[in-house]
Amino acid sequence: MIPKKMAPLREGKSKILYSTDTSDQIIQFFKDAATAFNALKKGTIKNKGPINNKVSSSLFQYLEKHGIKTHFLKHISEREMLCKKVDIIPVEVVVRNRAAGSICKRLAITKGEPFNPPLIEFFYKSDALGDPLISENHIFHFKWATPEELENMVNQSRKINDLLIPVFDQIGLELIDFKLEFGRDGQGELLLADEFTADGCRLWDKKSGEPMDKDRFRQDLGGVDEAYHEVSTRLQNFFEASL
Ligand code: C5P
Repeated sequence: MIPKKMAPLREGKSKILYSTDTSDQIIQFFKDAATAFNALKKGTIKNKGPINNKVSSSLFQYLEKHGIKTHFLKHISEREMLCKKVDIIPVEVVVRNRAAGSICKRLAITKGEPFNPPLIEFFYKSDALGDPLISENHIFHFKWATPEELENMVNQSRKINDLLIPVFDQIGLELIDFKLEFGRDGQGELLLADEFTADGCRLWDKKSGEPMDKDRFRQDLGGVDEAYHEVSTRLQNFFEASL
């Protein structure tokens, strides 16, 4: 049975979290709003909410099937996903297979340079501070996560990368990088939380090399709605064919 949607708990840039009449479950509502550069750039991507809900639901289900524990419970409507309630750990884990985005600027690295093994970075989840890069020492000093939790987060992130590279490869896309968030459920168990969508990863079309993700919005490349729709369609076809 689907619990009853209650008052909003928190509204973020792309989602609204609602409490439910079940204390350990929440409803994640996906908006069409798009932001970039810590919300300095704002816009709307047509149908992004339903697309991101569908993409994230399919990928979380796939990851669960392959041994990753996530907060995902059920895709309950076009824009809503039922999730386990977690306390979000304020550490964003970024996995990079190739250089793109902030690391190119920060360390003067050529865009597209491969990282083998994939490079892992940590950022402090704080809109007010613009999500600064942090080290393990900050995470332990400020008790954002224990060493055991961080080790688990890194292992899960590497495993997610290994699972998703071939999925995207089979639909003609290269997984360049992505950001993950984790949380603790009521029993203290670590779960993958938030979402996995074209908002939080980079996907380059294998044939054209063109970005098929939020970089189209960030860089005013045009064809934003179409790219989100295309990624979602390719993924749905892949999952339907592999049922
Ligand atoms: O900006 P940067 O290059 O560090 O981003 C790395 C990856 O993490 C990109 O796929 C980006 O979309 C994602 N990211 C995110 N949310 C943030 C920061 C980065 O989804 N706050």
